[in-house]
Amino acid sequence: MKPKLSRRNFFQTLTAIGSAGAVVASSSCQDSSKPVSTPQVASINTADLASSPLPYSTMSSSSINPRKVLLWEQTRKEVREALQRGDIKAAIVPTGSTEQHNEHLVLGTDVASATLLSEQTALRLYPQVIVSTPCPVGWAPYHMARKGTLTLSKETFRSFVFEVIESLIAHGIKTILVCNGHGGNHHILKQALPEWRKKLGITLDAISYSEAYKDEELATFLTSYKLRLEGKYDNIAEQTADSHASEHETSIALAAYPQRVRSVSMKEYDDAKLNYESGMTPKVWEYMKPFDSQRTTNPENARDRARQDQALLGTAEKGKKLIEISATYLSDKLQKMIHATEKGLPWPTNT
Ligand SMILES: [Zn+2]
Repeated sequence: MKPKLSRRNFFQTLTAIGSAGAVVASSSCQDSSKPVSTPQVASINTADLASSPLPYSTMSSSSINPRKVLLWEQTRKEVREALQRGDIKAAIVPTGSTEQHNEHLVLGTDVASATLLSEQTALRLYPQVIVSTPCPVGWAPYHMARKGTLTLSKETFRSFVFEVIESLIAHGIKTILVCNGHGGNHHILKQALPEWRKKLGITLDAISYSEAYKDEELATFLTSYKLRLEGKYDNIAEQTADSHASEHETSIALAAYPQRVRSVSMKEYDDAKLNYESGMTPKVWEYMKPFDSQRTTNPENARDRARQDQALLGTAEKGKKLIEISATYLSDKLQKMIHATEKGLPWPTNT
């Protein structure tokens, strides 16, 4: 059992590290000037995984105690007493995906980032917010041609999230934010919201953490965004590469959990002679067929290579900025949601 931090020490630690910087455990943070091609920790830190029932806790207990805001790290006594004190005013439900993230990022990248941003948001509003156990698999059939990807049907994903929300409501929580980390889940959640709000009658929202980002702002520190906005990318593969597994996601991973980033050079990538179209079994083809027409306008092999190339621009320093922007956006939004619940105001507001 780990020694419990007193509340006072907890806040002292928060203050000493600074909010967004808290995601970086100083002992594991890489030199931010090094690109991703520089070898990081070569493999998953199994000691870290063994100490956590879910491998997505992001911060070392030596820098901050994230367990304070994670539901699955609480006992029933701790949750009961926090509810009785009126401390817990809201919950966040992280939703992610287990899917291919090119050659260098782990399959759990999206659930890790959704949980990270949920955790950072909850820490900013401590002790008002609890982070529920994340949904680790999302809707990702279009990634099934790459090994390791898992997908749910849209119906199953919707049901999972809805039933987790219902459980939280049963314990008396009246403000809930779904924090999504995977593009495929985004529209499913947005489309479900009106009906869920009507059925549940609570202050409810679903936001992808990437909604915090504006291209123009990111272009001030992300090279691939700058080059795209300046029209320097002359093919569609390069122009659309930054949405997945490239500079943005790689930077967040380097800032928060560098042990989940592998060193892969472009020579290694090219030597592997990857071909998206080859080796699709009939079963995989069933998943991929609905997306066939998209691949003719934006060939996946070229985009995959562009993503690998842009990922080399990622740094921990850029990742810290991305985390800061998104956690600020989410915590502002959730604070307004809590306010709406307390004042009996409708959500979303028109302002
Ligand atoms: Zn991702």
